[in-house]
Amino acid sequence: MGPVRLVESVRCVREDGGVLLVRGREALRVSVRAGRTGEFVEALRGGTTVEALGSIAAPERVRALFGKLDSLGWLTGEEAHSEQAVPWDRQVGWFTALTPDAQAAQRRLCGSEVGILGVGGIGGPAAQHLAAAGVPRLWLIDHDRVAVHNLNRQYLFGSEDIGRPKTEAAADALRRLVPEVEVRTVDRRVSGTADLDALPASLDLLLLAADRPRTIGETAWEWARATGTALLGGAVGLDTGCWGPLLDPAQGHCLHCFEARRSARFSSVERELESRSDPTPYSFGPTNALIAAFVARDALLYLGTGRCESQGRRVVMDVLGIGGRREEATADEARCERPGGEGHSGGGPSPGSAPAAAAPAAADAAQAPAARTAMTPAPATTNGTGRHA
Ligand SMILES: [Zn+2]
Repeated sequence: MGPVRLVESVRCVREDGGVLLVRGREALRVSVRAGRTGEFVEALRGGTTVEALGSIAAPERVRALFGKLDSLGWLTGEEAHSEQAVPWDRQVGWFTALTPDAQAAQRRLCGSEVGILGVGGIGGPAAQHLAAAGVPRLWLIDHDRVAVHNLNRQYLFGSEDIGRPKTEAAADALRRLVPEVEVRTVDRRVSGTADLDALPASLDLLLLAADRPRTIGETAWEWARATGTALLGGAVGLDTGCWGPLLDPAQGHCLHCFEARRSARFSSVERELESRSDPTPYSFGPTNALIAAFVARDALLYLGTGRCESQGRRVVMDVLGIGGRREEATADEARCERPGGEGHSGGGPSPGSAPAAAAPAAADAAQAPAARTAMTPAPATTNGTGRHA
């Protein structure tokens, strides 16, 4: 075993008789020989071995400590991260709160390519997060033009952009913010999977941040399934927002099976309400930004580590409640019951699945890129768990 070191997210607090190691709500007290604490911390931070630390603390204790640190995910074999003059430099240490292979995660991010369908209140801020975090290639697809009433939440645009294609204005803004990013634009209305063929099949992830037409979720999923691309959507309404499920064809996920399971929890009234719901034309910048940030967070974690909270499930957040009530679907609700998912091809939910109107999209309430914008989830959809808001 080569040298290992503490990951950046673990803090070392010196105290009498040793050092307290802290990350989040976990702490570990370590005894160190008198007068050697500074040396001990420096060695743990810089990279060391059981043998080398044996002169500072009893070897059997060091061995036990390494075992404990390793089980906590607090040790890494990666060399210390050398800071670079890039916007995303400081997040590498943050990643060590999730994975000891933080630099490998950042390298994966820095090698990824993401498509964003809908550059509105969710897609625009999400694009900004992705570019700033180091995603080097973005594809933006939208047909809409910037309107003055977009400006309360679509922060990539300014009043000088009114009337411009959203894709073009967003690309300019992203290049201004992060000159390293390569942005390609597709100024097109998406009404079928053929429209998405303008995107490369090599995308690592497609973000669904549009809600029109009503079948956009189905369309995006058909394309994602056919190309083996992961799909993640987000949406926000008046009182709740949601994101997920992240559907990964390689993991056997399936939109149809997800919607069927979700719909099965609804009462007949809830199903009817969902099928009849219309999106709200109203929107509030902070709640859009909140959900867009969660979409971006999960996208980045998925790209970097292969895991994120909304994988296979939809996360729902009360964006009005002061307590921030939050409900989650159970894990892996998107597992397909038909191996390969082939049984669902040809469009439309399968027989026995959710009613068509209740199975619209991964982002059935996304902020509309269109002028009359915001969609709100129907009462039954708003919390995604079959309860009324
Ligand atoms: Zn299925």
